[in-house]
Amino acid sequence: MHQLTLAEIARGLAAKQFSSEELTRTLLARIQALDPQLNAFITVTEALALEQARAADVRRANGDNSPLLGAPIAHKDLFCTRGIRTSCASRMLDNFEAPYDATVVEKLAAAGAVTLGKTNMDEFAMGSANENSYYGPVKNPWQLEHVPGGSSGGSAAAVAARLLPATTGTDTGGSIRQPAAFTNLTGLKPTYGRVSRWGMIAYASSLDQAGPLARTAEDCALLLQGMAGFDPKDSTSIDEPVPDYTATLNDSLEGLRIGVPKEYFGAGLDPRIGERVQASIRELEKLGAVIKEVSLPTMQHAVPAYYVIAPAEASSNLSRFDGVRFGYRCESPVDLTDLYKRSRGEGFGPEVQRRIMVGAYALSAGYYDAYYLKAQRIRRLIKNDFMAAFQDVDVIVGPTTPNPAWKLGAKGSDPVAAYLEDVYTITANLAGLPGLSMPVGFADGLPVGAQLLAPYFQEGRLLNIAHRYQQITDWHLQSPEGF
Ligand code: GLN
Repeated sequence: MHQLTLAEIARGLAAKQFSSEELTRTLLARIQALDPQLNAFITVTEALALEQARAADVRRANGDNSPLLGAPIAHKDLFCTRGIRTSCASRMLDNFEAPYDATVVEKLAAAGAVTLGKTNMDEFAMGSANENSYYGPVKNPWQLEHVPGGSSGGSAAAVAARLLPATTGTDTGGSIRQPAAFTNLTGLKPTYGRVSRWGMIAYASSLDQAGPLARTAEDCALLLQGMAGFDPKDSTSIDEPVPDYTATLNDSLEGLRIGVPKEYFGAGLDPRIGERVQASIRELEKLGAVIKEVSLPTMQHAVPAYYVIAPAEASSNLSRFDGVRFGYRCESPVDLTDLYKRSRGEGFGPEVQRRIMVGAYALSAGYYDAYYLKAQRIRRLIKNDFMAAFQDVDVIVGPTTPNPAWKLGAKGSDPVAAYLEDVYTITANLAGLPGLSMPVGFADGLPVGAQLLAPYFQEGRLLNIAHRYQQITDWHLQSPEGF
């Protein structure tokens, strides 16, 4: 039963082949047996899951056949969940139970999804390897001594290991697409504003966006359908109708114009990844797509611009964690300054502290123009590059990451080495565009992902291309040994 995709689960439940309660019990047992090897979950919500599963079975018996009714999922541990620990993988929030549900959590629960738990992540979503968690690193089920990617590493590892069919993640600079690539999943970062950020603990508010992680494009379509939509509680959510993402999955790719940026295949890219991505482009050609070269000249400045803007926003967003209102508070502070200093010094891990310091520096008087303003200008140029490229093509295809998953600890002492691994993913966040990563092969047993980027609100097109590709390839069907 654990091999079933969301789409297969929906059919099985509708055909009464099994109940949601049966499925939920099977997966909870699997999590209990296998998660100790992975550390993908921070909290398993067994009682809630069984209660939701039984309620879903009752709704089903009364004739409700909603596609997500009774489907097991889990949420990255930065979505607020009422009465359940919402830790952001930080000591700062280890004791925090959210007083309300995030909009994404509420919408999926209303659609009938069953929450099995909260998944491990990089602390406050800062990282690309899931090694920055207060609860310890997550392992990649493909090779346990390798990282699963980050920051949605727990969400990715859990799905890749068939502990459950799909999870939510968030992507500020690649945190859905990069772990999807590292664990052989399909992951989608929607257009900025497509999914409500209300109740999502903020890292960099102008970049953060929630999306689905699953094994197939079809499952991502199903989960996104339940997540997307305007939310009056989030002023950056956009009031744009949500199309039926499953209705266009099988659309023809005849005449689809694929742009391949010439900057994508240069130095720094592992040739094995280059070869796999080129092969995937040839498969799309067989489906009728035409290939054109495009250029994204400002791309080389994206990593430095992102690593000014994201920490700047983080330094502001994380100022609320002061030891006073909620979260960690140090023992016996001598005065208010001591309370702030020690609560934050003891509550935040080293990478989070580094980002707060970088961000506060970039925003300080005297450095604002040189760093923050300059980075914002680069951000606009990156967006302009994409707008120019999308004049000529419908979608841009390239690698999701320059290298496959590295070994745990391999980049531990060098944060900049990890930052450089985000080179292909962060441009979509800076421009606010939707992006998807899909499995396109392996390099010495480690999964390789290709990234598709589309114009604003063209999530349906990304899912359509990935789905058609998955109809003629079987990379996404491979499962890691031992799981
Ligand atoms: N690796 C990037 C960072 O550390 C992106 C993280 C994310 O998308 N949340 O900021």
